[in-house]
Amino acid sequence: MHKKLVVGNWKMYGSRSANALLLAGLKEAGPWSAEVVVCVPFPYIAETALALTGQSIAFGAQDCSAHEAGAFTGEVSSMMLADLGCRYVIVGHSERRAHHHESDQLVAEKARAALAHGVTPIVCVGETLAEREAGQTETVVKRQLAAVIHLLTHCIGEIVLAYEPVWAIGTGLTASPEQAQAVHKVLRMQLQAATKKADAMKILYGGSVKPDNAAQLFAQPDIDGGLIGGAALKAADFSAICRAAM
Ligand code: PEP
Repeated sequence: MHKKLVVGNWKMYGSRSANALLLAGLKEAGPWSAEVVVCVPFPYIAETALALTGQSIAFGAQDCSAHEAGAFTGEVSSMMLADLGCRYVIVGHSERRAHHHESDQLVAEKARAALAHGVTPIVCVGETLAEREAGQTETVVKRQLAAVIHLLTHCIGEIVLAYEPVWAIGTGLTASPEQAQAVHKVLRMQLQAATKKADAMKILYGGSVKPDNAAQLFAQPDIDGGLIGGAALKAADFSAICRAAM
């Protein structure tokens, strides 16, 4: 049995004082048998690193540039994230795909840039409600993952994958454990065709995971943990989810 991975995505929430309280709450509630990560807004990475010194909670970012360095105003490189001690970076979150028009190709390039600096990309894939209703779920998630497999080739085994149905993110709607498992199985099989490491790879589920539905989701054979948004902002809820990931 592999250790589960639980990742908190703070999105664009927080302040220095709110973060300090949240991290203090997590430190008090842990440690857990799951691997636990918080992905925080860029300006708070350094302070989060300090607050988590000596703790078993890792930290990361929510995006990175596909470029190494250069005249890219406003962008943050994966080299900078590595420099700050980030172990993980989320790439291809549906909010970035939707609001910043990130293509499958760009997401794959970001994943490659992260890996080049030893930062593990958490690559998000997922269908919209319209795509699910049109019976396109498999086609969409397989296309999104295929772009990453194509670019990373033999390095694909180094990523973490997150299945996040867009219709379940921040909506309170959750994929049922069976619905989520079915898509995770499809993704696992696609990875198996690309790498011998597929069975050891982590495929996270994200989309309105809460303390009361986490255990059932995490009990599915191909769900290796969760990517948690809203519930990651409350120490009690996030730690309950981490506890559910035994
Ligand atoms: C997310 O932001 O990745 C997410 C899954 O959000 P929520 O848990 O709030 O649905």
